[in-house]
Amino acid sequence: MEGRHPSIQNQGPIEENGQAIRLAVKDNISALGFSTTCASNILAGNNIPFEATIVRQLRQRGSTVTGKAGMDEFGMGTHSTTSAFENIHNVCGLEKYSAGGSSGGSAVAVRKGEAELALGTDTGGSVRMPAAYTGTVGFKPSYGMLSRWGVVPYANSLDTVGILSRTVGPIGAAIIGQNLYLEHDPNDPTSLPSHVRQRCAAERRGYDSWNPGQNGTIQGLTFGIPIEYNIEELDPRIRQGWLTVAQKVEELGGRIVPVSLTSTKNALSAYYVIAPAEASSNLAKYDGIRYGQRNREQASDSFEGILYGKTRETGFGSEVKRRILLGSYTLSSEAMDNYFIQAQKVRRLVRRDFDRVFKLSNPLEDQQPFDLSDMEDTVYLENKFGPAQVDFLLCPTAPTTPPLLEDVMRQTPLDSYMNDVFTVPASLAGLPAISVPMDIPVDPSDEEQKLLSFGGMQLIGQYWDDARLLSVADVLA
Ligand code: GLN
Repeated sequence: MEGRHPSIQNQGPIEENGQAIRLAVKDNISALGFSTTCASNILAGNNIPFEATIVRQLRQRGSTVTGKAGMDEFGMGTHSTTSAFENIHNVCGLEKYSAGGSSGGSAVAVRKGEAELALGTDTGGSVRMPAAYTGTVGFKPSYGMLSRWGVVPYANSLDTVGILSRTVGPIGAAIIGQNLYLEHDPNDPTSLPSHVRQRCAAERRGYDSWNPGQNGTIQGLTFGIPIEYNIEELDPRIRQGWLTVAQKVEELGGRIVPVSLTSTKNALSAYYVIAPAEASSNLAKYDGIRYGQRNREQASDSFEGILYGKTRETGFGSEVKRRILLGSYTLSSEAMDNYFIQAQKVRRLVRRDFDRVFKLSNPLEDQQPFDLSDMEDTVYLENKFGPAQVDFLLCPTAPTTPPLLEDVMRQTPLDSYMNDVFTVPASLAGLPAISVPMDIPVDPSDEEQKLLSFGGMQLIGQYWDDARLLSVADVLA
């Protein structure tokens, strides 16, 4: 059945000439010759008649699309368990565990060696989270860097196309080495215009090459440890792994400093207001008339209201419906001021937190005064640790190792949203971030623990510092 692809759906023989890079494409990104279902019944069998720019760009650079990768419905989820077709599970002995989401199929495809590169989308962590849970590398670029034309939107102001691989090398080679990051796409209104790219490039001169092994050093760089990320719920093994990486940084000549990102605690709530609000607007077009698989039983019904309702009732899964309801509510006139507007303010604070700690300035920074007078609940502590000047931030990607799928199924939606606590801040600020595998301690007598001997370590960089972020991640991975 079309659209059923637990991890990846192969099409034809894979070119094994040592040249072609096998590319798996998340099923919300269009690739010619494949359907694009977003793992939703409402788009079952849907064919987008053009190819996503990012797929075209990678094909032009020697990639062969081997298949579409399964995901959470419309990218809404953290464990790839909200698909209308088939849930994804982890691999390599970890089949009982979550593979992370929403780009779980992409992570599994590279982990199993079905593809060297996989495209995913990262709105609030959907590339980094599956990377952390499968022991692969997941990179979310600066917002606006890679084209989203041909990518089905979830939340436009947050959506990015991300890339997964077993190691950092192929990702750095594709994006920086082959100059993908320089290409503006006129078809995508959120693609950074060429003149802004040039300005960003000028500000990053000397930091924009990809020469792993040559300039791959962290000597003299400062890494911030955000103290707010050391939450109570953090698995002690993940905390230990984090400390070990920090020690490694110091051994390699880097400096570790504590930093405070005070708005972190509000970031998750802000994300879960903004993302569903944008999603509710994006998904309104699936009504069975112009877009979306029509509910056949009602097809002859002349009253459009019933057709819309039935189409949406049977077409969307429960998590998608929950987001639509949530988003429609927070955008309604009685809730707008208390939720949506507040969330946008928190978003500005999150961005300001990051801008304050990074040595490099944000090339997109505007100098608009920002009225925070009604943000009584947000304690914004200016320079809690002095003017922390860091090159990168170092923190875990997820608070725990991958959970058991049976536990995930019992979780409340809120429990599941909690998993995204470390990934959403960089998304709200549009910053580049990468998850690379890190070792965590295991009790050798505990067979279960021996399998789960890795976690995800996240590095976050200033806007458009993607090249340096990738080089540093390559050193630390
Ligand atoms: N888990 C988050 C959500 O459900 C992030 C998803 C994503 O990045 N696409 O919204």
